[in-house]
Amino acid sequence: MKNLLGGKGANLAEMCNIGVPVPPGFTLSTEVCSAYYDNNRNYPEGLKSEVEAAIAKTEEVLGKKFGDPTNPLLLSVRSGSRASMPGMMDTVLNLGINEEITEGLAKLSGNPRFAWDSYRRFVQMYGDVVLDLKPVNKEDHDPFELILEAKKEEKGVELDTELSAEDLKEIVAEFKAEIKKVTGHDFPDDPMEQLWGAVGSVFGSWMNDRAIYYRRLNGIPSEWGTAVNIQAMVYGNMGDDCATGVAFTRDPANGEKIFYGEYLINAQGEDVVAGVRTPQPVNDSTKSDPSHATLQELMPKPYQDLVDIYLKLEKHYKDMQDIEFTIQKGKLWMLQTRNGKRTAEAAVRIAVEMEKEGLIDKNTAIKRVEAESLDQLLHPMFDPNADKNVIATGLPASPGAATGKIVFHAEDAEVWVEKGEDVLLVRTETSPEDIGGMHVAKGILTARGGMTSHAAVVARGMGTCCVAGCGAIEIDLKKKTMTVDGKVLKEGDWLSLDGSKGEVIEGKVPTIDPELSGDFGILMGWADEVRHLNVRTNADTPHDAEVARNFGAEGIGLCRTEHMFFEGDRIKAVREMILADDEAGRRKALTKLLPYQRDDFYGIFKVMHDLPVTVRTLDPPLHEFLPHDDANQQVMADEMGITLEEVKAKVESLSEFNPMLGHRGCRLGITYPEITEMQARAIIEAACDLTKEGINVLPEIMIPLIGTKAELVDQKKVVVSTAEKVMEEKGVKVNYLVGTMIEIPRAALTAHEVAEEADFFSFGTNDLTQMTFGYSRDDAGPFLKEYTSKGILSDDPFQTLDQSGVGQLVEIGVQRGRQTKPDLKIGICGEHGGDPRSVEFCHKVGLNYVSCSPYRVPIARLAAAQAQLNNPV
Ligand code: PEP
Ligand code: MG
Repeated sequence: MKNLLGGKGANLAEMCNIGVPVPPGFTLSTEVCSAYYDNNRNYPEGLKSEVEAAIAKTEEVLGKKFGDPTNPLLLSVRSGSRASMPGMMDTVLNLGINEEITEGLAKLSGNPRFAWDSYRRFVQMYGDVVLDLKPVNKEDHDPFELILEAKKEEKGVELDTELSAEDLKEIVAEFKAEIKKVTGHDFPDDPMEQLWGAVGSVFGSWMNDRAIYYRRLNGIPSEWGTAVNIQAMVYGNMGDDCATGVAFTRDPANGEKIFYGEYLINAQGEDVVAGVRTPQPVNDSTKSDPSHATLQELMPKPYQDLVDIYLKLEKHYKDMQDIEFTIQKGKLWMLQTRNGKRTAEAAVRIAVEMEKEGLIDKNTAIKRVEAESLDQLLHPMFDPNADKNVIATGLPASPGAATGKIVFHAEDAEVWVEKGEDVLLVRTETSPEDIGGMHVAKGILTARGGMTSHAAVVARGMGTCCVAGCGAIEIDLKKKTMTVDGKVLKEGDWLSLDGSKGEVIEGKVPTIDPELSGDFGILMGWADEVRHLNVRTNADTPHDAEVARNFGAEGIGLCRTEHMFFEGDRIKAVREMILADDEAGRRKALTKLLPYQRDDFYGIFKVMHDLPVTVRTLDPPLHEFLPHDDANQQVMADEMGITLEEVKAKVESLSEFNPMLGHRGCRLGITYPEITEMQARAIIEAACDLTKEGINVLPEIMIPLIGTKAELVDQKKVVVSTAEKVMEEKGVKVNYLVGTMIEIPRAALTAHEVAEEADFFSFGTNDLTQMTFGYSRDDAGPFLKEYTSKGILSDDPFQTLDQSGVGQLVEIGVQRGRQTKPDLKIGICGEHGGDPRSVEFCHKVGLNYVSCSPYRVPIARLAAAQAQLNNPV
C-alpha cells in the first residue's frame, strides 16, 4: 500500500478502514509520478478522466460541487512519498476557489471573513508553490508576507485573525497584482486549471533541490516518486469553534507516555508548523504557562474524540503516531497519521515501554531503534558542575549539548563547517531550504516556533541538538547579530545550547561522558541475547579500552601500536629508530621504546582482563612519523649526534611518493626484524607479568599488510622465537595467538594459503577498500564527495563497505580461509566495523566479530542483533 499510495495516502486509507473520520478524497499513486518522469513530464493517458471521476465521487459523498459557487467543494492537494520527507515537497490548500466562489462560500457559511481568508491563503500558497514566487535568495522576503505585514500595520493589528473580510479582500487584490507583475499572467480562476497546476507542482517538487538533498541524506531512491493526495478541505479557520493542530501520541523528545500536542484556534494547518503564531498545548497535563488555554479546556468534546482516536491509532499501528487534525465547527477530522520521528532517547524508551505494555515483542523493540541513532546518546553532555551563564531559555526541541560559533544563514553554516569550524545555526525560524546548514551545524537555535516547528522536527530526526521558540532573542540578519536582553552577540561568537533543557548559554561549556543505564541497558541486553556477532573495539590506550568495555566491548580487535608513539618523548625515539643507519642504531632506539610499550600493553591487558586483545605490530606510514620541519629535524640531529644536513638527507631518502602503499606494515618488520622482536617482547613481557599477578590475559598478535603467506611466515617466526625466549626468562607460560590482517587483495585471494600459518584473520577494510578501488586513503576525500553527489557511488566506500566489490574479496577470504581451517576465527577492524549496514554484511558472510571505535560499540551491538533478526542463522 505504502509503495503505491505513499505513506500519507496509505495511512489515510487505513484510517478510513478502521473508522476514523477522514475528509473524503483520493490519491494519485507513485506510479503516476514515475510515469510522469519516464514520459518527459507528461501524464499517463486516461489520468484526466480518472481524476474527474474521482472528483465526482467526492462531490457525491459530500453533496458539494467542485467549482460551483452556490455550494463549492474545495480541495487540498498534498504530496506523500513512501518514506516521510517532512516539509520537503509541496502542498496547496483551499484549491478550487475564485472571487465568485468566495462570495458563494461567504453566503453559504455566513462567514465572509472565513471565505476571504481561505481565498487569501489559496492565492498565497498557489503563488508561492505553483507560480514560483517564493524567494530564492536568503536575504529576500516572501512578497506575500510583505503585503500581509504591511496590511496588518496599516490596520493597526498584530495577528492575521484580527484582519476583517474587507482587509482580506484588499490583500487578495494586492496578491494578484503582485503575481501579474512577476509572472505577466492573470491568476487562474478556473478550478480545474488550478488543480492540474497544483498536481504538476507536487510531482515537480519531487525533483526540487531540497527534496533531492533530503533523499541523499536519508538514502531514499529517486525512482520511488511521490503520490498526490487530493481531499476535500475541512476548515479550522471558520471561527472560534474551529481549530487545527498536530500531536504526538508520546513525547517525541524523551519518549514519555503522555499525549503531547499543540493547536491553534481559528487557523489552518500551515499556521501551526510554520511557527508564525505560537501554538498552545493541547491538554492540561502538558500546560506549563497558566496564560495558555488548552484544547481540553476550550473544546472538551472534540478533545475527548481526539484522545479516543489517538489511543485507537497507537494500538492499531503499534507505534508512536504523529497526527494532524482539524476541528470544523466542533467536529474532529484527522488529516494525517504516521509513525512519529523521535530522538534516540525517545526511541529507546518507547520501544522498551511498548514491550512492557505488551504492544510489541522484544525483537520488534530491537528493530524499532535505528542503530546509527544511538550515536546521539553516546556523546558527551554539559558538565553539570560547570559554570554556565544561561542568557535565554527556549523549548527543549531536540536533546544533546552543542557548542559552536554563531552563524545566521544555513549557507554560511555549510561554508564555515567546510573550513573546519563548529557552528550553531541561529535563525528566526527555519524552513526546508535550510536543510543543508541544519545538517552540518552542531546545534540549532530558533527565535520562533513550537516543539513541532520545522526546526524541531528536522533536528530531532537528525539527532542535532535544538532549542526552538526562544522568544528572548532578536536577530538582525543584515548586521549579523543577535540581541538577548540588551546583550549583542555577533556572527562568530561562541555560544552553547542545551537541547534537553532548552538553555542558551554564553560561550563554550565543558562536557562530560554520558551514563548509560535504564531503558538503554534493557534494550542492549535484549540485543545481546539475539546477536551472533561479537563486538570488539579498536583501542590504543587503557582509557579508550575502559570506555569501550563500559560500552560492552568484548575484546580489542585492533590496538594500533604506532598510535602509542605520538605522545611526549616517544616520537623522538621512534624517529631515531626510523632514521638510524644500521641495526645497532635501531636497537639503541628500540631499547628506549621497549619500556613504554610494555607499560602500555600492561595497562591495556589489565583493563581487558579475561577478554582477547589483538595487538598489531607496527604499521606506520613513514610520512606520519618523519620530522618535516627544521626545528624537529634539529632536535633529532642533537639527539642522534649528527648534523642537521645529515638528518635532512635521511628524511629525503626515506620520503615516498605513495606512503600509504610504501614501506609500512609487515614490510618494515621484514626489513628490520628487530622492530617486531621488540614489540613481541613488550607484549609477552606484559602478559607474563600480569599472569604472575593472577590476571587472565589473552593476547593475539596480528601482522599487518601481508600479501603473501611467506610474509606471515617470516614475521611469525620472529614473534614465536621471541615469545618463547621471554616466557623462559620470566618462567611463565601465556597462551597467545599469531594471526594476520587481510587488507591486501592478494591476501584475500590466497587466504587458503595464508590460513595455513594464521590463528585468526582480521579484515582491514580501510586498506582493502583503498587497494580494491585504487583510491588513495589520503587523497580520495575531495573527489569522493563529487562521486557521491553525482550518484557515481551511492556511499563513501571508506565509511560503508562496498559490498558488491570489496565485499566479494571479504567473502572469498572467509571462504578460502575456512577451506583450510574450518574454525578459523575471523573479524573486521576497518572503520566499517561500526557502520550498521556493513555490520549486517559481516553477519551475513559469517564473521565472528566486528571491531569499532569505543563510542560505536553499542551501535554495533544493536546493528548485530538487527542483522540476526533480518537474516537469521
Ligand atoms: C585497515 O586497513 O582497515 C586497518 C584497520 O588498518 P589501518 O587503518 O591502521 O591501516
Ligand atoms: Mg590497514
